[in-house]
Amino acid sequence: MMMMMRVLDSIPVETRCAASLAIGKNVAAFRRAVLSWYDHHRRDLPWRQTRDPYRIWLSEIMLQQTRVAAVLEHYRVFLERFPNVEVLAAASEDAVLAAWSGLGYYRRARMLHRCARQVARQHGGCFPQNSEALLALPGIGRYTAAAIASIAFAESVAVVDGNVERVLQRLIGNKSIGINLTTAQTWQHAQTFLSNSRPGDFNQGMMELGATVCVPRAPHCPMCPVRKWCVTRGEVPRTEPPSRQKKKQIWCVLESRDGNGSGNGKVRLVQRPRQASLMPGMWELPQSSEPPRPLPASARWRTFRHSITITDYTVHVLRNTPLPDSPAAAKGTWIAIDRIPRIPITGLTRKILKASGII
Ligand code: SF4
Repeated sequence: MMMMMRVLDSIPVETRCAASLAIGKNVAAFRRAVLSWYDHHRRDLPWRQTRDPYRIWLSEIMLQQTRVAAVLEHYRVFLERFPNVEVLAAASEDAVLAAWSGLGYYRRARMLHRCARQVARQHGGCFPQNSEALLALPGIGRYTAAAIASIAFAESVAVVDGNVERVLQRLIGNKSIGINLTTAQTWQHAQTFLSNSRPGDFNQGMMELGATVCVPRAPHCPMCPVRKWCVTRGEVPRTEPPSRQKKKQIWCVLESRDGNGSGNGKVRLVQRPRQASLMPGMWELPQSSEPPRPLPASARWRTFRHSITITDYTVHVLRNTPLPDSPAAAKGTWIAIDRIPRIPITGLTRKILKASGII
């Protein structure tokens, strides 16, 4: 390693990227190190026990912007409800959104549904077996196409997600020593390093390395299987997480009828406009950015913390208290509780209804 660093020091900055690819002379050893580490240290995740493109595609879409821990249960329940692409294609959009409830970023669910319909209609229910054809499907970008093609069909095509990009930037160089790979260079290096005999496992190995060892803030370099090829060994400028917006407060009203044990309980919900930019058409509790005035102490039920994208909310839940100046439409509609699993409700509403024992 020291020898390599000395060699790098003697090379002009602009050519170091290429020089660091001298590591590429040991690319076979590098691949073996990643694959062996992945074989022994990978997390046991359900989408790693299959080569079914439907299940792999679903996991990749769910994992976009969502933590593994949050995806696990949704993945299991979603597959129970929609076990294959034909069943998903035949479902209504509302049913798909209902099953997606709690995962957020609902555009993903709409694109997922549109993609399933296209696979059913144009491909006879079978996913195309190469990344180029997968890329033509709705909601499938370069990363997702490569992930499905390499894992399900063993196509030799590399993936670059945030984890892989971080590993490669640190492995090859970063701003602190005057090197910062462009997106195109990152994809190029990923493709150069890829194992052609086990492309799916190699891609997952690189992603797993970034997710569990070469983590953003303090990489665990002593445990890293590729540290002997790493230029930076974690000596990187600290990347601060994106700044979050100021906290916002909202007031929600939870109004329910218990049905007197008849099983006909109801809760009042409002449907968001179909044209809304955020969560269009989804159902939620009536809410306002202003509290009722005066606000009787007896109306307060509980306070929740909730985040949507980069905004943190403090949510005050009131029981059976009208909100200020609510237009008639915003007061909502009585919805039968046993219908709720079949309609799309927002993650916040699900959280509150669960906490209240209504669902
Ligand atoms: S040695 Fe450290 S910085 Fe380099 S790839 Fe491994 S974990 Fe990341």
